Amino acid sequence: MAKSRGILQETWDVATSVFRAMRISGRNFLRKPVTVHYPDKPRTYPDRYRGLLALTYDRETGEENCIGCRLCEFVCPPAVIKVEMLKSEKRNYAKTFSLELYACEFCELCVQVCPTDAIVMMKSFDMATTDRRELLLDKDRLHAIGETFDASWATGNRLRDMQAPPKKVAAEKPAAEKAGGEA
Ligand code: SF4
Ligand code: SF4
Repeated sequence: MAKSRGILQETWDVATSVFRAMRISGRNFLRKPVTVHYPDKPRTYPDRYRGLLALTYDRETGEENCIGCRLCEFVCPPAVIKVEMLKSEKRNYAKTFSLELYACEFCELCVQVCPTDAIVMMKSFDMATTDRRELLLDKDRLHAIGETFDASWATGNRLRDMQAPPKKVAAEKPAAEKAGGEA
């Protein structure tokens, strides 16, 4: 008797498990797909998405934003950026600018140190290739990427503003330091 109850219990367990699994499958079968048919349908990226690197122009004057200061070159951990400065009367420029994207770590340090928001990350990663040479980007190609895709919200100036202490704290600190110095 005990044995037949065991078989009945097992049959019931299997039947309920199958029913539960079928119910989940059925629910997902009817649900709207969450996948995107990339590349036929372009994806919309969040504002803070950080993808490809690019160089920018000043939207008002049309001038290159890069002043050739080489800060990005000095800070880049794998040393994939090379910049030559071109000195000019009113401001400096980058005479040459190259970036080996195939060796980039996407650490964003170059963006964070750039004083003029000349180098930024884009809301796209769309540059797949089987030829590494295509990922050696010169100044023109970096500008072209900047014109093709939307830039991430995260420019160097915005990131530095975000990391700076709140204005009230910054104003209180020197006063506290002065008082400490007098004591
Ligand atoms: S994201 Fe990092 S690794 Fe890539 S170029 Fe900028 S500093 Fe170099
Ligand atoms: S991209 Fe920015 S940090 Fe790099 S050289 Fe140009 S101005 Fe300087």
